[in-house]
Amino acid sequence: MRAVRMTAPGVLEQVQVPTPTPGPGEVLVRVGAVGACHSDLHILDAPPGVFPTPITLGHEIAGTVDTLGDGVTGWSAGERVAVYGIIGCGTCRGCLRGRENQCRTVPVGGIGLSRDGGLAEHVVVPASRLLPVGDLELTQAAPLTDAGLTPYHAIELARPVLRPGTSVVVIGIGGLGHMAVQILAATTAVRIIAVDSNVAALDLATRVGAHHVVPAGPDTVERIRELVGPAPDGADVVIDCVGVDATLTAARDVVATGGRLLLVGLGGGTMPVRPVADEPPTVPLETSVEVPFWGTRAELQEVIALGRAGLLTADVQTFPLERAPEAYDLLRAGEIHGRAVIVP
Ligand code: NAD
Ligand code: ZN
Ligand code: ZN
Repeated sequence: MRAVRMTAPGVLEQVQVPTPTPGPGEVLVRVGAVGACHSDLHILDAPPGVFPTPITLGHEIAGTVDTLGDGVTGWSAGERVAVYGIIGCGTCRGCLRGRENQCRTVPVGGIGLSRDGGLAEHVVVPASRLLPVGDLELTQAAPLTDAGLTPYHAIELARPVLRPGTSVVVIGIGGLGHMAVQILAATTAVRIIAVDSNVAALDLATRVGAHHVVPAGPDTVERIRELVGPAPDGADVVIDCVGVDATLTAARDVVATGGRLLLVGLGGGTMPVRPVADEPPTVPLETSVEVPFWGTRAELQEVIALGRAGLLTADVQTFPLERAPEAYDLLRAGEIHGRAVIVP
């Protein structure tokens, strides 16, 4: 079969590989769609040894059931499925509580991260990773598994402060951010303020439900402050889907006392946290800083329900498998709006 693999650190290329065979408890899925996540660029850029090579990338997968491994029941060929990408150990405290995204044995283990992913005609996954998607388009189902699930999980963490009329700032309206705006619009009654350095991303934010848009630049904090008021008031929740120094600083500078900073983007920036009471602290008092990772299987089921109800729709640009490397180049150049989805 054809597969797009990271053959060495930083090298992405299309190759021919044998079609894999599902082992006991596994299922061979015919890949229908796979999202190109910005995290794949971080994987490509990671130092040698952090991720295995060669590896087929692609952790945002939807497709149809093909062949069942020994002992698998409850699935039949042709069923349309989304793949939950995390594979926890199943026995640690995090996994036992249904929070495989908090696995203490395999912290970043999963399909397309620590074993072959979905940028291929087929992928083998444990049967327990499959969720039915009904008649949802597979190009829609794929982005739900990460671009949808990750902000959904982050928003769940902040649920107690997402009261009607409060303000939420979403920074970075790309694959994750444009889904975050829709999840907020569909499940809360908050005022949504979208921030991005790209004008097309801000247009998308408005189309999917943001109430205000703010271009990222030297006066971002001032512009947001005009909307949310002066400190110690501010945005009750800030979801940073970029995570570079500039966005982390802006996030910290606009969050309200008692608010939540949800640091979703893995852009390599740093946020100093200096708890003091006698001078302005770096992060307002009573404010939580959280670093959410992906989400749980139960949350993915809820995200799929939002998608099937027409409340969460990825803005998708499709590419055939042989153009996957080009799609990642465009993503790196900031020329993908919404989500690039590869159709093998
Ligand atoms: P993306 O490339 O689709 O979107 C990024 C958006 O941020 C773009 O619209 C871009 O214009 C904007 N942007 C870039 N720099 C900016 C700046 N300085 N100020 C304002 N806006 C800026 O990326 P994505 O796939 O949505 O992923 C976003 C981040 O989230 C990545 O770092 C990715 O690795 C990370 N991620 C984290 C998790 C997790 O579990 N925590 C899961 C998936 C992705
Ligand atoms: Zn991802
Ligand atoms: Zn575990």
